[in-house]
Amino acid sequence: MSEQSANPLIGGPADPEHDSTAAYGLDRSYVASLTRRIVSTTGETHAVSSPIGGAPLGHVPQSGPADVTEAFVRARHAQAGWAATSIDERAAALLRLHDLLLDRQDELIDLVVWESGKARKDAYLEVAHLALTARYYARTAHEHLDTQRVGGMFPVLTRAEVHRVPKGVVGIISPWNYPLTMALCDGIPALLAGNAVVSKPDAQTMLTALLAAQLLDEAGFPPELWQVVAGPGPEVGGAIVAEADYICFTGSTATGRTIAKQCAERLIGCSLELGGKNPMLVLRDADVHRAAEGAVRGVFSNAGQLCVSMERLFVADQVYDRFVDAFVSRTQAMTLGASQDWSVDMGSLISQAQLDTVARHVEDAVAKGARVLTGGKARPDLGPFVFEPTILEGVSADMECFGKETFGPVVALYRFHSEDEAVERANDGAYGLNASVYTRDGARGRAVARRIKAGTVNVNEAYGATFGSLGAPMGGMRESGMGRRQGAEGIHRYTEAQSVATQRLVPIAPMLGMSEETNAKVMTAALRLLNKLGRA
Ligand code: NAD
Repeated sequence: MSEQSANPLIGGPADPEHDSTAAYGLDRSYVASLTRRIVSTTGETHAVSSPIGGAPLGHVPQSGPADVTEAFVRARHAQAGWAATSIDERAAALLRLHDLLLDRQDELIDLVVWESGKARKDAYLEVAHLALTARYYARTAHEHLDTQRVGGMFPVLTRAEVHRVPKGVVGIISPWNYPLTMALCDGIPALLAGNAVVSKPDAQTMLTALLAAQLLDEAGFPPELWQVVAGPGPEVGGAIVAEADYICFTGSTATGRTIAKQCAERLIGCSLELGGKNPMLVLRDADVHRAAEGAVRGVFSNAGQLCVSMERLFVADQVYDRFVDAFVSRTQAMTLGASQDWSVDMGSLISQAQLDTVARHVEDAVAKGARVLTGGKARPDLGPFVFEPTILEGVSADMECFGKETFGPVVALYRFHSEDEAVERANDGAYGLNASVYTRDGARGRAVARRIKAGTVNVNEAYGATFGSLGAPMGGMRESGMGRRQGAEGIHRYTEAQSVATQRLVPIAPMLGMSEETNAKVMTAALRLLNKLGRA
């Protein structure tokens, strides 16, 4: 897909007469104003086209290994000054970003929809999630980053404190499914903690990531603090892993495994937000209509291209038939389309590759005996990559969609007889990202939640309750990842804890010619006393 362009920093087809992007309002100068931010000297460009109608959006300059090195040089230089700024100054920039995101939401949503083909309401949630993230970390900055006094070895004699030192330059490698939120949400705490970032967004959604970077500039972050590089994952992503002080990766489990090995080789830390095969449990006392409404959002938001969306639905015997009726009829009432219109309930998949995977999973299941309750086919009449919301029954372990992530609008329904059985089947498989439990009894829902092996569990909601609770860590157990975004863990991953202890008056050693034996007795008496006094 790469081609030579006369000027690597100016995107767009050579002939403006045939520049169909103009029809989208993405004129060449707009695209060029975004792509200018990429560190690129290769002269190569990558053509980006829209899943809405398939027309080209622009040409994105590509980075080579030397560009990645240059991005790190610039980032390291900027980071030194940034780390010396006050926490309040950094938090203030985040609050300006919060307002800019809300003020510029129409432009952001337009671009997200053109690049990804998703429904407009799904794109809005990206804006909202980023604004929540910016505000949460700005308002809790001191709580997470201030130096903490901790108990010293001996009261009064030992003063101990823990500083949060920025790692340096964080490499962020992100996927295409939430182009705006995935571009920035992990970077916000990294910047607040005093780091610089070298970001490599997915090739399919570079323009949105570049607009996000532009908003950082406008919010007052030093421009060199956030570097953007573009190019194929193994090459450019690999070069980032080779130079970064920490890696934040979001994407597939397969790539996460490769990155974890590379980070281990360099002895640098990483957080990995990976795939899932998320279960929803509808217990026998659930409000069936509320559960059906939640299932529609949980399964079909972002056309199922959502790491925390539901692909397995376990429903209690007692409510199975009523739930299935409600779920199927709500699904059939959804408006499909590939457009900028707010009325679209479910948008397009992003690419032919996604469409192929989804179609293959459904065809394989049907060929092996699964029943399609609704959906089941592509809708080229609505857009090149639109696939109907699809509900399957009778899925078994020999089918591809049983345990593998489809990452599309396809769900398998299973009936269960006891809650123990439901929990056991929900915990089956390699993943452990997100889960959902529907019940009228909140306490019961929370008790079931504790038994599910997933990093987040939502009671009477599919994923939004945990994802929107920024104080609660979010991430995967088992093959769904390592580390957490959000909350204290989401920012502390970008810091080194540095302990400084000052010893006063006496050394931690025998004093005044005391023998080692006497010293041991004195120490033992002191330890006993501290325990009696209830000291930690
Ligand atoms: P992917 O792993 O193919 O690509 C993700 C990113 O990694 C892209 O920027 C890509 O260019 C880059 N990359 C690819 N190979 C690389 C390599 N060898 N070294 C360095 N970088 C490399 O993932 P995808 O298919 O684009 O994204 C979908 C997956 O992401 C799904 O499995 C989904 O569940 C997961 N995801 C997880 C979360 C989460 O928070 N857990 C969020 C969104 C998506």
